[in-house]
Amino acid sequence: MKITPATQILGIIGDPVAHSLSPIMHNGWIEDHGIDAVYVALRFHSQDAEHDIRALKGLGFAGLNVTLPHKQAAAAAADRSESEVANTLRWEQDGTLSAFNTDGAGFLDALAEAAPDWASRVRRVLIVGAGGAALAIGKALSPRVETVQFVNRTMARAETAAAALANGHALRWGELERGFAGADLIVQATSLGLDGADALEWPLAQCQRSAIVADIVYRPLETQLLHTARARGLTAMDGLGMLIHQGARAFELWFGVAPSAANARARLEAALGP
Ligand code: NDP
Repeated sequence: MKITPATQILGIIGDPVAHSLSPIMHNGWIEDHGIDAVYVALRFHSQDAEHDIRALKGLGFAGLNVTLPHKQAAAAAADRSESEVANTLRWEQDGTLSAFNTDGAGFLDALAEAAPDWASRVRRVLIVGAGGAALAIGKALSPRVETVQFVNRTMARAETAAAALANGHALRWGELERGFAGADLIVQATSLGLDGADALEWPLAQCQRSAIVADIVYRPLETQLLHTARARGLTAMDGLGMLIHQGARAFELWFGVAPSAANARARLEAALGP
């Protein structure tokens, strides 16, 4: 790739960010579409991220993704934002900044890919976790299902997440088994399982045979939860789907073209290794 003064610059800001797979995904798509752009990972260490993101406006990036811990600051720093928590920033022709959150819609895209008939199968959802990703997924699913239950180590956070949805409920951590037994879709949205650090015996034996089990952790791709779910014959969905589809939606917001999810999966699976 030849970088010139005309090359558009995009990237991901977060702290830490060195582990991010987004550069592989977006640079692959940039190449697929022959776009004169480059996507980089930028560690963004800031005591006042809202102020500092606003200061970035003058640099004229074509677009940025935003990851922890700056998603709220990004939404607040933008001139307009579709949600209070943003993962995508776009510079407009007039120099203003727009913020978007593609996490929830990206999860739904991934779910439709993993279980095309999910809408007719899922009435009751259990989300394990109540952090930013859990809430984005809950908000996306809420209008499409009967109930969304959050079960979280810290009960107060589960209650806050549940209160944000018209059909949200909170379960105590001790009620995990009951939650698994009653759900048509279980979404693991905590950092448990990350790098194999699975501290839990997930109560999959209680699940209905028709249940769909999704894990949004993608390092490793096959978490203990997914491995056990597959062994029990349940529909399992890994965390790469959400990563790819939230990224694809961001890419389309920047460049107006929908990139190939299959190309991204091939590149990311190669990068993650066996
Ligand atoms: P947050 O920090 O906002 O939330 C973390 C969640 O994990 C909280 O619910 C927290 O519970 C829970 N948790 C952490 N450690 C433990 C533990 N030892 N036992 C039980 N619960 C625990 O993070 P995010 O919501 O942004 O991200 C959560 C995970 O999802 C991360 O692993 C992230 O990498 C992944 N992710 C994947 C995406 C994808 O595209 N596939 C997109 C976004 C995130 P508590 O409230 O009690 O602290």
